[in-house]
Amino acid sequence: MANDIVRKIEQAGVAGAGGAGFPTHVKAAACVDTVVANYAECEPLVASDSAVISADPERMLEGLALMRGAVGATRAIVALKRKRKEQVAVLEELSRKRGDFTLHLLDDVYPAGDEHLLVEEVTGRVVPQGGIPPEVSVLVSNVTTLWRVALSNEGRAFTERYVTVVGEVRKPRTLLVPIGTSANALIEACGGASVRPFVIVMGGPMMGEITEDADTPVRKTTTAVIVLPPDNPLVRRRRVRLSVSVRRAMAACMQCMDCTLMCPRYLMGHQLFPHKIMRSVALWIEGSEEELASAMLCSECGLCGHFVCPMELSPVLIFQAVKQELVAKGVRLTVKRAATAPLPERSGRRVPVERLTARFGLAGYAGPHPVPRSALEATVVKIPLREKWGRLRPCVSKGASVTRGTVVAEPEGPGPGAVAHASIDGQVTSITEEYLHVTS
Ligand code: SF4
Ligand code: SF4
Repeated sequence: MANDIVRKIEQAGVAGAGGAGFPTHVKAAACVDTVVANYAECEPLVASDSAVISADPERMLEGLALMRGAVGATRAIVALKRKRKEQVAVLEELSRKRGDFTLHLLDDVYPAGDEHLLVEEVTGRVVPQGGIPPEVSVLVSNVTTLWRVALSNEGRAFTERYVTVVGEVRKPRTLLVPIGTSANALIEACGGASVRPFVIVMGGPMMGEITEDADTPVRKTTTAVIVLPPDNPLVRRRRVRLSVSVRRAMAACMQCMDCTLMCPRYLMGHQLFPHKIMRSVALWIEGSEEELASAMLCSECGLCGHFVCPMELSPVLIFQAVKQELVAKGVRLTVKRAATAPLPERSGRRVPVERLTARFGLAGYAGPHPVPRSALEATVVKIPLREKWGRLRPCVSKGASVTRGTVVAEPEGPGPGAVAHASIDGQVTSITEEYLHVTS
């Protein structure tokens, strides 16, 4: 039975829909005593998980039950913010009816959905730094992912997801869209952009990818398409190039330590000291190998760079580059995976989402926004062939006829990966290094 659902999850190509994109069938093979459904939805403006809970809560809970069975867990907990009163009421009612899960209510802070923080908050267990939740017998899965797990059990591939379209669009809403639909198609479905020129954030404002390319497609991990004017304070801060960021850091990092003192992972007790990495990289002061490798502990939440640094420097951008280089060189984390304990000052240093929203000029865009019942119909989709875990190899040729749910690409390497499916009926019209195009 457990093997059966793991196989179905793999065949359906389910991957972490909250942003991580890790193949879910690999996670489902773990053996833990607790499953936490992550409905923290902590990035400002994003409401794609809320759409799942509004539209199809029973199916998400079915996915949670399936996951609990797969990993042999004895308890299941849905973690969500207490501010989501409507969804709390729906889930409380279902908890009474089903009796197979409980709720844990979270404060409205960022980044509440970080797995290390969430596990400690919900279970009191501390994941070792550099470790993963199964090391303390917990599996964390995002609620959209769990919804897809239930659908995989019905034989339905991961071909569509909810995406919040918000910001400078005329009719903001959260849409159910085929994977591979362009950001432009979503923006047009929401009445078009209300400013020109504009930039797009694919995902949440803190961690999403910023692009000017409206042809960028929705991925399995895309929670939102946020349209912003180029002079938005967050856009300005996030669009700084790495070389500029390093030069600015060399000129202006005053080693005040604010980035460290407010870092959620440092406050969890991890040996992550952003100001020291800045000192090593930007100020050309030689740091120990361990100091640089500690960048691997960074969750890339963006708080240090987008919110905290008084000099508007971008430690997170520099850490991303350091991490990429370390991975490319095959450098392993040398920081001991020791058990840690949250620092006592942590509770006073949490960042309310409201403050982030106000700081970045996003308050005027906040919802709730409608969730139409019918899915958006796309006539052309670009199925991504490059994911966070690695590359996919196309298994259909140009000109092939496909229907929604046809497997079109498989993981290339020996490592874990998730298959990709056609998300609409049509013909494969082109295959590039990056995408497989299907046109109806
Ligand atoms: S907060 Fe900014 S100025 Fe202060 S140490 Fe960190 S990077 Fe340097
Ligand atoms: S992005 Fe900055 S604040 Fe967030 S975990 Fe990394 S170092 Fe800490």
